Amino acid sequence: MADILKGGPCAKALTEELIGRTVTLKQKDVTPCLALLRIGERGDDIAYENAAVKRCEKIGISVKKFLLRSDVSREEVLSAVRAINMDADIHGCLMFRPFPDKAVEEAASRLLLPEKDVDCMTSGSLASVFSGSGVGYPPCTAEAVVRLLHYYDIPISGRRVTVAGRSLVIGKPVSMLLLRENATVTVCHSRTEDLAGECRRADIVVAAIGKAKLLTKEFFAKGQVVVDVGINVDAAGNMCGDCDFEAAEPVVAAITPVPGGVGSVTTAVLCEHVVRAAEKA
Ligand code: NAP
Repeated sequence: MADILKGGPCAKALTEELIGRTVTLKQKDVTPCLALLRIGERGDDIAYENAAVKRCEKIGISVKKFLLRSDVSREEVLSAVRAINMDADIHGCLMFRPFPDKAVEEAASRLLLPEKDVDCMTSGSLASVFSGSGVGYPPCTAEAVVRLLHYYDIPISGRRVTVAGRSLVIGKPVSMLLLRENATVTVCHSRTEDLAGECRRADIVVAAIGKAKLLTKEFFAKGQVVVDVGINVDAAGNMCGDCDFEAAEPVVAAITPVPGGVGSVTTAVLCEHVVRAAEKA
């Protein structure tokens, strides 16, 4: 039986730390504030927004919402970003991606002030993930993976890690963060010839593909730690990860559940970035 690496306890510990830091900020008349910019009514955006707002309320972070219609013009989106930039009370901004229009998304990320970019949208923050310069913040989910491993005292240095997925939001940044922790990282993608073999050879598997239960029994080996980032819906309509949990759990040493794993830590990391931005301001 594998250890189940639940996200809840890790998120709770971070939330408690953030409550203390927010009290200290409020004593200096600073209330950390997060701006949420959402275009349209996508269910997954609204679910993430609700979870983020709930976590912010618990910590004492205020939230300003910028909710735009799905047929919003480029100018209206950019004017919302300008308003966020100019509002000195706003310390961080989360924009729900992808935008309906990729060109508008790129323009918005160029416009957003780097110091308010708490989810690694600007090229400056992204460059920092690769250079380790410490400017900006890594994508919240990528950082949540590393925080979860730290919380459960799972050694990273010197371990072989296979990251399945190479997106700019998760796969690539989490690979860089783990490399910074001295892991030996293999990054896989849709053209990888033997994904199952690459996963089996790893001490730690990070699955960030976005395909329900793609990683079946032959992807796993005894003693491994599996971090499942995927959020999918299975054939029965239930939320599930990229790993076939029932097949993996009897084999591996430890595995994150979906739901209740990495996703629960992501909103706490977002709040940590907002509090840090407020401390810097
Ligand atoms: P994405 O942009 O679609 O990227 C998917 C990656 O998986 C790509 O690099 C793709 O390879 C690779 N891939 C696709 N099919 C594959 C296959 N059969 N074998 C090997 N690699 C394959 O997705 P994403 O934004 O990174 O998200 C990944 C998952 O994480 C999704 O389920 C998403 O919902 C979830 N997610 C979770 C959280 C959280 O807080 N837990 C937050 C955000 C996203 P190519 O590059 O070759 O196309």
